[in-house]
Amino acid sequence: MTITINQTSIDPRHFIGGKRVDSAQRFVTISPIDEQPLGELAAADATTIDQAVQAAGKAHPVWKNTAPEKRAALLNRVAELIEGRIAALAAVETADNGALLRSHLRGVMPRVAHNFRFFAEQLLQLGQPDFTTGHHRHHITWQGSGVAAIITPWNAPLMLATWRIAPALAAGCSVVFKPPEWAPLTASLLADVMAEAGIPPGVFNLVQGMGSEAGAALVSHPGIRRIAFTGSVPTARLIAAAAAPNLVPLSFELGGKSPFIIFADADLERAVALAVGQYDNAGQVCLAGTRILVEKSIREEFLARFLAKARDLKQGDPRDPATDIGPQISRAHFTRVQGFVDRAKQDGIKTVLGGGPNGELGGLYFKPTLLLDPPATSEIWQNEVFGPVLTLSEFETEAEAIALANDTHYGLAAVVLTANPARAERMSQAVSAGLVWNNCFFVRDLRQPFGGNGLSGIGREGGHWSFDFYADVKCSVFAE
Ligand code: NAD
Repeated sequence: MTITINQTSIDPRHFIGGKRVDSAQRFVTISPIDEQPLGELAAADATTIDQAVQAAGKAHPVWKNTAPEKRAALLNRVAELIEGRIAALAAVETADNGALLRSHLRGVMPRVAHNFRFFAEQLLQLGQPDFTTGHHRHHITWQGSGVAAIITPWNAPLMLATWRIAPALAAGCSVVFKPPEWAPLTASLLADVMAEAGIPPGVFNLVQGMGSEAGAALVSHPGIRRIAFTGSVPTARLIAAAAAPNLVPLSFELGGKSPFIIFADADLERAVALAVGQYDNAGQVCLAGTRILVEKSIREEFLARFLAKARDLKQGDPRDPATDIGPQISRAHFTRVQGFVDRAKQDGIKTVLGGGPNGELGGLYFKPTLLLDPPATSEIWQNEVFGPVLTLSEFETEAEAIALANDTHYGLAAVVLTANPARAERMSQAVSAGLVWNNCFFVRDLRQPFGGNGLSGIGREGGHWSFDFYADVKCSVFAE
């Protein structure tokens, strides 16, 4: 049984110890484009998870001791094979998660390959600085800590997965990867790439299945030494509890409710363009600045220009190059997004744009939506919607902008738009977020530390921070 999309064959089974492995249980993946099933995949139970962790544990000692140059060469080969398959990967990902094909082709899939190239290079540049004190030499090394469990969501499935898998492998961990059940297909294509690149059997393992069964069995397995999770806060809480008995270090990249702050001196045209860009990926972006905070003196002009531009967005089939906004990932998620908007309306919060399904398209296409002036105590202000729903509020002073920006339990990102460099510096320091963009948005370089404060996560990855997480950092002291 294979699944075929645009002439690309996808193996629906797990990949364990270098071999395809099946399960009696199955789950169906559905395309958000038209809500039609794309095919059935194997669903792992605890026995299959144990098999995968055992295979990864067996492969780890050899992989950990493989010369960094050899590990880097293999990761570069993975990158090269991905680069040769960008069109196929993009088409499959779009069918499976409904994100724009043009984004997958131009940005996302090249970035997937870059994830491997970057961490291969980073591995070779890792400083292992010796220093001496009196008659002692101190020598610091990074050694792969063991089996890393990597669990990822559906909004950018292959990009988010490889941004954890690449550094874990580079650091000398072996990996058991569980992709999202709502968009699991490109993970299987990645397993093909790993095999073809010559990654030794057991170093990379893929287990398909449901979070509640496969994911839960993986994170509580005693053979796991690291857990890297990208997803929602409720799931993160379950994982932290499951990992506690084994005291497994966690790296969590979770949700956000990021502020998008516009001062009166900002370049308004740029501010409007960037603000409308917060609807990208149909709002299913953890980093999105979903709470627009605008200085009172420019509120009406900003709002008028924002609405005009947002009304111009073309919603439709994500395979059409003219489309700006595609569907929500699933019926359940669509209903969840609608629930947030409906409850906000019931609480008297005004909707000035969208607010429900796109009547012409039907299906899972939720209109870009803007709500005005939600109280800071309201659900829509405090909780992540993860759909095309933004709010707009006003402030009069810098201090007020900071207070509003920080009035959530999250702290993933922030956008600050101002022509005043000193103010940009002050805001950068004052806003609680792992990443602050000044007069720009979504500038992501893999050398940056990435992660969030508060409910947005635990830890930082990127650059050497990734190695600090996946490796056991060791100091050996030699008497001389
Ligand atoms: P989710 O938490 O429902 O699922 C994420 C993954 O966890 C899936 O693979 C799922 O199968 C698995 N899972 C579910 N229950 C599990 C359990 N008990 N044990 C182990 N694994 C389990 O999240 P989602 O709806 O897929 O993704 C959306 C969320 O991800 C949003 O909150 C979004 O902000 C967040 N996100 C964060 C970042 C970031 O970098 N900070 C990036 C993208 C998405």
